[in-house]
Amino acid sequence: MNKRTFLKLASAAMTRQIFSPLFTRASKDRLKNWAGNIEYSTGTLQLANSLDQVRAFVKNQAKFKVLGTRHCFNQIADSRNEFLSLEGMDKVVSLDAPGRTVTIAGRMTYGQLCPYLDSHGFALPNLASLPHISVTGACSTGTHGSGEKNGNLSTAVSALEIVNAAGDVVELSRQKSGELFPGAVVGIGALGVITKLTLGLRPTFRVQQYVYEDLPLSQLASHFDEIESAAYSVSLFTDWQKKRINEVWLKTVVEEGRRFEVPDEFFGAKRATKNLHPIAELSAENCTEQMGVPGPWYDRLPHFRMGFTPSAGKELQSEYFVPRANAVEAILAVEKLRDQISPHLLISEIRAIAADDLWLSPCYKRASVTIHFTWKQDWAAVSKLLPVIERELAPFGPRPHWGKLFSISPPQLHAGYEKLPDFIALSRRFDPKGKFQNQFLATNVFRA
Ligand SMILES: Cc1cc2nc3c(=O)[nH]c(=O)nc-3n(C[C@H](O)[C@H](O)[C@H](O)COP(=O)(O)OP(=O)(O)OC[C@H]3O[C@@H](n4cnc5c(N)ncnc54)[C@H](O)[C@@H]3O)c2cc1C
Repeated sequence: MNKRTFLKLASAAMTRQIFSPLFTRASKDRLKNWAGNIEYSTGTLQLANSLDQVRAFVKNQAKFKVLGTRHCFNQIADSRNEFLSLEGMDKVVSLDAPGRTVTIAGRMTYGQLCPYLDSHGFALPNLASLPHISVTGACSTGTHGSGEKNGNLSTAVSALEIVNAAGDVVELSRQKSGELFPGAVVGIGALGVITKLTLGLRPTFRVQQYVYEDLPLSQLASHFDEIESAAYSVSLFTDWQKKRINEVWLKTVVEEGRRFEVPDEFFGAKRATKNLHPIAELSAENCTEQMGVPGPWYDRLPHFRMGFTPSAGKELQSEYFVPRANAVEAILAVEKLRDQISPHLLISEIRAIAADDLWLSPCYKRASVTIHFTWKQDWAAVSKLLPVIERELAPFGPRPHWGKLFSISPPQLHAGYEKLPDFIALSRRFDPKGKFQNQFLATNVFRA
């Protein structure tokens, strides 16, 4: 970090009396994303604690990006100019119990929010594989969990407060804002600074998690719909070897008076006899409790527990959404590439997600299945493999995860999103001079 950056950070921290973890990390090391594969193009980061500070900052800046919890694997969050972090804006703003909604500030994480909701008798419908991510960052990129009846996480959003490029506060809601609302929710950081989100809630619930090992691929191919509908959330983990799904994670809602049938065998897979990590060789210590032990929704729907380093640590991720109707064909197309994929792979995960109406959601008007790859951190090898996988998936119109690594060309990306031209028009209203744009957005969205 250069001297100017350090002094700027130091004075920001002193004047605002903030002792933020991001500040501390930034002052010791170069500013990087969570996986460490992206070193951001600037180390200059300002902290904002209030709506007024955000507005003042936005008015004074020609160009910048908001950083959430830095969990994206690509340059979607990168800036060459300046970063804004809402580090101090991580609290619940209000809970509307009769209306079943919660309003939170723009930098709250699921890990901070979920225990609060549970203690007040509420829950979110679904969660991603880990709770460490900011709710706003997740919803802005169409982040998802699993479950064929569950929409991605942004489908829980019912209202949002955005500071646009002029520094004005814009409030949008599903009830009052017409087409603007579905256009803005998965906003990929292009519309402004999201300072508040309102999320729809359901009554709290408990979940049991069961894991089965070694599901033959042939069973998956012939019983895909039955397998996907077997539980509230279903995750299939595979290394693509030996024509099998290594682990099937079933997360089922505990219902009073109804027992979940737990056979020893599930479409040829055997029930695990101990907690497992998605990569069976790794310790399950940081994974959420399995073996049917009932627990709160927020400690079962994610695969990884709060307070532990999630996943395998040093890794890269890619993920493609394909139409649910083509799921089996798409999975078998990827399986053909097993010998090319396996040397570079830590694990793959297959999940189902319901369709939605959010313009830039990868599930826009399309019930989807995602094929996810957690790669070893070897970009030279992975960057050569992605076009090969994308070629196999091309007949199914794959939409890449906005926050993960892909090589799909901008025109192909545009072809997958019928509402992208409308989104560009919308972003010009919020940000006529491209204050919130960066190289990633310019290349993939605005200059295709
Ligand atoms: C270990 C791991 C596991 C993961 N598991 C899943 C999973 O299960 N499912 C899944 O779908 N994805 C998963 N992801 C991807 C992750 O959910 C997304 O990358 C998500 O966007 C991360 O949120 P963030 O706050 O860290 O985003 P950042 O990387 O910090 O930012 C992402 C985007 O959001 C914008 N943004 C953030 N905050 C604001 C704000 N307040 N106002 C305006 N724009 C904002 C940024 O500018 C940027 O464009 C995983 C990632 C990791 C590292």
